[in-house]
Amino acid sequence: MIAIALQSGSNGNCLYVESGSVKLLFDAGISGLQAQRRLEALGRDIRDVQAVILSHDHSDHVRCAGVFHRKFGLPVLATEKTLAAARRRATLGALGDVATFRAGQTLRFGAVSVETLPTPHDGVDGVAFVVDSGHARLGILTDLGHVFDALGEAVASLDAVFLESNYDPRMLETGPYPLFLQQRIRGPGGHISNYESAELLAQRASSRMKWACLAHLSEQNNEPALARRTHETILRGKLPLHVASRYHPTGPLEL
Ligand SMILES: [Zn+2]
Ligand SMILES: [Zn+2]
Repeated sequence: MIAIALQSGSNGNCLYVESGSVKLLFDAGISGLQAQRRLEALGRDIRDVQAVILSHDHSDHVRCAGVFHRKFGLPVLATEKTLAAARRRATLGALGDVATFRAGQTLRFGAVSVETLPTPHDGVDGVAFVVDSGHARLGILTDLGHVFDALGEAVASLDAVFLESNYDPRMLETGPYPLFLQQRIRGPGGHISNYESAELLAQRASSRMKWACLAHLSEQNNEPALARRTHETILRGKLPLHVASRYHPTGPLEL
């Protein structure tokens, strides 16, 4: 299995995964042109993708789903509530080929299954993902709200993970965000911090985990080097780390 974070952060999320002939996109928060060009630069054709699966209704995840669908013919998969809320937040336009799933349901694409894990994030019906090729399990775990039991269980089962590491608590507290926004981010429906992410990996990642890629970093309340340092301090070399960029593709990462 190969994964590429085409972009990761509140400015737009889109992640590509391939396993054999199965090619999937997770979220459509960057422009169709950007997604196409970034994949092309890495030798991939967006038109070969079988589906774009949406995690939740926030615009950094759904903004361009309509374009992905109309321009490249990609079927869109989302829960009914996510789809309805996404239409309220963004102009998705005509979607001729939408399949809905229930949060918690497992989706199948040939030999690959995609487990959907309901999250307590403050979207209407958010899910995180575990992609299982039959040989390896990849977590796509962002916009988590807080660390919850099923999240720990998922992490313990993985061979690699994109894990939210959204903010540094001190930068959030001393940064430019108004108090209500700070409270939302560190509250139970917001995002998880560098420390929470690192502790989760320290406690739950098993010896089978090959790497962790820190994802959905905040622009204002985090820095890639700081997120990495926090993880290195807590994990003490337990596993290789990558940091997904807000501006360019990260990967291909193999597992
Ligand atoms: Zn997000
Ligand atoms: Zn979100």
